Amino acid sequence: MLLRDEFSKNGDIRIGVYVCDCGTNIAGKVRVPEVVEYAGTLPHVVVAKEYKYMCSDPGQDMIRREIKEQKLNRLLVAACSPHVHEETFRNVAAQAGLNPFLFQMVNIRELVSWVTKDPDKATAKAKDMIRAAANRVLFHEELEPLKYHIKRNVVIVGGGIAGIHAALLLADSGEHVYLVERESSIGGHMAMFDKTFPTLDCAACILTPKMTMVKSHPNITIMSYSEVVEVNGFVGDFKVKVRKKPRYVDEENCVGCFECIDACVFKDARYPNEFDFGLGKRKPIYMPFPQAVPPVPVIDADTCIEFKTGKCPKECLKACGERAGIDFAQKEEIVELEVGSIIVATGFDSFDPKKMPQYGYGIYSNVYTSLEAERLFNASGPTAGELVLRDGSKPKSVGIIHCVGSRDENHNRWCSRVCCMYSMKLAHLVKERTNADVFNFYIDIRAAGKGYEEFYNRTMEEGVQYIRGKVAEVTDNAQTKDEEGKLVIRVEDTLLGMIRRIPVDMVILSVGLEPQHDALEVTKMFNISCSGGGWFMERHPKLAPVSTMSGGVFLAGACQAPKDIPDTVAQAGAAASEALALSHKGVIEVEPNTAFIDETLCSGCQVCVGLCPYSAISYDQEKKISILNQALCQGCGVCAGACPSGAAQQHLFNDSQLMAEIEGALAGVL
Ligand SMILES: Cc1cc2nc3c(=O)[nH]c(=O)nc-3n(C[C@H](O)[C@H](O)[C@H](O)COP(=O)(O)OP(=O)(O)OC[C@H]3O[C@@H](n4cnc5c(N)ncnc54)[C@H](O)[C@@H]3O)c2cc1C
Repeated sequence: MLLRDEFSKNGDIRIGVYVCDCGTNIAGKVRVPEVVEYAGTLPHVVVAKEYKYMCSDPGQDMIRREIKEQKLNRLLVAACSPHVHEETFRNVAAQAGLNPFLFQMVNIRELVSWVTKDPDKATAKAKDMIRAAANRVLFHEELEPLKYHIKRNVVIVGGGIAGIHAALLLADSGEHVYLVERESSIGGHMAMFDKTFPTLDCAACILTPKMTMVKSHPNITIMSYSEVVEVNGFVGDFKVKVRKKPRYVDEENCVGCFECIDACVFKDARYPNEFDFGLGKRKPIYMPFPQAVPPVPVIDADTCIEFKTGKCPKECLKACGERAGIDFAQKEEIVELEVGSIIVATGFDSFDPKKMPQYGYGIYSNVYTSLEAERLFNASGPTAGELVLRDGSKPKSVGIIHCVGSRDENHNRWCSRVCCMYSMKLAHLVKERTNADVFNFYIDIRAAGKGYEEFYNRTMEEGVQYIRGKVAEVTDNAQTKDEEGKLVIRVEDTLLGMIRRIPVDMVILSVGLEPQHDALEVTKMFNISCSGGGWFMERHPKLAPVSTMSGGVFLAGACQAPKDIPDTVAQAGAAASEALALSHKGVIEVEPNTAFIDETLCSGCQVCVGLCPYSAISYDQEKKISILNQALCQGCGVCAGACPSGAAQQHLFNDSQLMAEIEGALAGVL
C-alpha cells in the first residue's frame, strides 16, 4: 500500500507532541496525562508533554528548547483552534529553526472538550485526533510563505462617520485614500441629525469640520455618487473598479456658488428631497443639504426638463457661464484603482415600518419614523428645526414607540442598540421645542454607555413619561371625547398591569437598524461573509473585530452590527490602524496553502478553469494544460477536489497528507 510504503521511508522522523490543559478548558474533560502517555507510544514520537498553558511564555520556551535538544523535525501541538494559536506555534517552530509548515495543530478544545460531555469519549477522541495528526505530519514538507509587496493606497467604501474618520486617520499618516460614497455627499446618517445623544452636541458642528477636512486633504480623493462594481486581486494588491454616476455638474470646474440652483426654471422646489425622506422639496438641480461635501450640485435626470424634453432654456448653464460647471453630456465613468487594503464602511438601513401596519405608518399622516423626526428637528431640515404636524401646528402630545422592528421574532431579532438612546434624545427635543407631553413606550431601557443612564434620568426630570409595554396598535378610532381628532396608542402597561389608551397628536416610530438592502451583493464583491441577520462578519468577535476572513479587507461602523457614533468612531480608528499596520509592513507573507498543478499529470480537461472562483487558473493553449497563478489562488481547494487526474493539488492539503490523516484516524477503529 502506498501510504505504508512511504511510511517506512520516514525512519528518521522525530515528532514532538505537546498537549495543552488550557487551564480546565481541556483538562476539565479530557484526561490529559493519559493522552500524553498514549501519544508517546505512537510511531516516530520521541517526546510527549503536558503543560497547563502551552501558549504561555514558559510553554513556548519548553517547545523551543526541546525542538533543539531532541532534534525534533516534526511538531504537533494539541490545544485550541488553529484560528487562535496556529500562528503562535508556527512562530515557535521557526524560532527554533524548524520550518513552520512541519507543524500541525490539533484542536482538542473546540472540537473535543467543549463539545463532548463524557470524559471517556473526550479522552478517546483526543487520542484519535492526535494519532491522525501524527500520521499526517509525516507527509508534511518544508514550505516558504509567499511574499508580496503591499500597495500603500486604501479604498474606503462608505462615507458616513466611520468612513470619514478612518479616511482622515489614514490620510494624516501619509496613506492615499479613495473614499467611495454612493450618495452625492459624504456624511451618512449622522449628517441628518440635529443633536447627538447623550451630550446633545450639534451634529453638524462636529461632523461638518471633519467633512471639509476630508475635502481639502491632499491625501484623500472623494469619489461621491460612485459605487464599487468589481474587486479583483488579493491583500496588498487589490484592483477595484468604481462606477462614477454622472451628476451633470463638473466637480473640477464647479466653484460651489449655487447660482445654477437659483437660476433653474423651476422657481420653487417641487420634487421630494430624498435626504429629508420627502418631507422637504428640492429642484431638479439641487444640493441634498446645505453642508454637503463635495459642495457640488447634482442634476436629477428624471426630473430635469432638459433631460425629459430637450427643450429647457438651460438657465442653469447660462448662470454658470464660463465656469463651465454644468455638463449635460457627462457620462458614467469606470475608474480603476490599485490599493493595498479595503475598508468596508457601508453603514445601515432602517426598518420599514410599513411592515407593521398596526402602527399606522403611511396610513396616518402624523405618524413619523425617527429619521423623519431627526430631519424635522434639524435646523437645515424641511421645517428649519420646528416640530410641526402636517397642518403646520405644534403637537401638544407626542408618543415615541421603541423597538419598532427590533427584538421581534417576526422581524429583526436583534436589539438595535441605539434606539432607546435616540428615542430619549427625540423626547428631550420634543420637550425643548414644543413643551408637549411626551410618552416613551419601551420594552426594556438599554442605556449602557458613558453618560447614557444619566441622560435617561435627565429626560425623566424634564417630564418625559416612560410606559413599559409593547404597543398593540396606533388608531384614530376615538372612544372618548379626549380621543377625538387624536391618534390613540393602545398598550398594555406591564408595570400598572392594565391596558391603556394614550391619545397623542404625533407618533414617532423608533425604527430599528438593519443591514443595507444590498449587503449580500457587497459581501460577494469583497469576498466577506455575513453573520446572523446579514451584518458583515468579523474574523473573530473578540480578537479580530475589524478584520474579515479576506486578508486586507476590514470593517468599520454600523455595517458590522448596530452601533452608536462613539463605537463607530472607535471601530473606524481600529480599522484604519489595521490597514496602516499592513501597509507599513511593505511586504506581506501569505500562507503557502495555495494549489499547484502537476504538469505531468494534467490532461488539459479544463474542469478547474471554470470552477476556480478567483480566476486563478487559465488554459495554456500551447502546452495544452491548465496553469495556476499562485498570486491569485486563495487556497480554497475546489480545483484539487474536482481534478479527475489528480494533477491539481494543494499545499498543506495534498492527497498523501489527507489520506494519512484519515488512515491515522481510522486506525483506532479498524
Ligand atoms: C434615528 C437615529 C438617530 C441616531 N442618533 C444617534 C445619536 O444621537 N448619537 C449616536 O451616537 N448615534 C446615533 N445614531 C446611530 C448613528 O446613526 C450610527 O452610529 C452611525 O451613523 C454609523 O455610522 P456609519 O458610518 O457606520 O454608517 P452610516 O451613517 O449609515 O454611513 C454609511 C455610508 O455608506 C454609504 N454607502 C452604503 N452602501 C454603500 C456602497 N455600496 N457604496 C458606497 N457607499 C455606500 C451610505 O450612503 C452612507 O453614506 C442614530 C441612529 C438613528 C437611526
